[in-house]
Amino acid sequence: MKIVIAIDGYSGTGKSSTAKQVASRLGYTYIDSGAMYRAITYFFLKNDIDFQNQSVMIKSLPDCTITFDNGSIFLNGQNVDHEIRTMEVNQSVSQVSALSEVRTKLVEQQRKMGEQKGVVMDGRDIGTVVFPKAELKVFMTANMDIRAERRRKELDKKGIDEPLHVIKENLIERDRIDSSRKDSPLKMADDAKEIDTSHLTLNQQIDKIVEMAESIIYASRD
Ligand code: C5P
Repeated sequence: MKIVIAIDGYSGTGKSSTAKQVASRLGYTYIDSGAMYRAITYFFLKNDIDFQNQSVMIKSLPDCTITFDNGSIFLNGQNVDHEIRTMEVNQSVSQVSALSEVRTKLVEQQRKMGEQKGVVMDGRDIGTVVFPKAELKVFMTANMDIRAERRRKELDKKGIDEPLHVIKENLIERDRIDSSRKDSPLKMADDAKEIDTSHLTLNQQIDKIVEMAESIIYASRD
C-alpha cells in the first residue's frame, strides 16, 4: 500500500531537504508546497502587482499556472527554481499566502497531486488542511538560532550574502504571519509526530521518518 506523508513545520527546520530524501528512499513523489506559494509571490513581483491591492492580486490568479517537472517548478512554462528563493520573495511570501483565494487555488492543485498516494508533501497546513487523513504526519521544529544559521548557509551556497540578523528577523516575521493568519494557520495537527531537529543531522531526520513510514506500510499489509 502507498501512503501520504505530510511534513509541516517552521522554515529552516530542514523540512524540504528531509522530505525530498524521504520520498526518494521510498520511491515516492516529493511535492514542495512552499515553492508554489513562492511562485505566485514571484508572479506578483514580476508583474509589479501591488501587495496592498488584494483585488488586483485575486483577479490575476487565473493567469498564473504552476507546474512541476522532474523536481523543478515552472510558472507559466518558465523554470523559476532560482527566482523563487530570493530575499525579495522571502519578504512577501507570507503576506501572499495569507490570502484565502491563493490558498484555495493551491490546495485544490495539491490535493489532485496527492490523489494517487505515494507522495511526500511539505508545508505549513498539509496535515491539518490539505491531507487531514494522511497516514503519516510529521511536525518539524528547531531552535531559532539554528534555523537562521541553516538558512544563511543555504543562501550562501546560492551566492546570496545576507546578514544573519536580517535572516533571523525574516524567519520571526514569517512565523508570526504564518501562525496568526485566519485561513489555515501554521499549527501542529493533533495526530502529528513532533521532531525537534536542532541537534539531528539530515540523515538522522530522514531515517526517523522513513522508519515511521515503513512501519505504517508494513502494518497495513495484514
Ligand atoms: O516552505 P517555505 O519556507 O518555502 O514556504 C514559504 C512560505 O509559503 C511560508 O513562509 C508560508 O507563508 C507559505 N506556505 C504556506 N503553506 C504551505 C507552504 C508554505 O502558507 N503549505
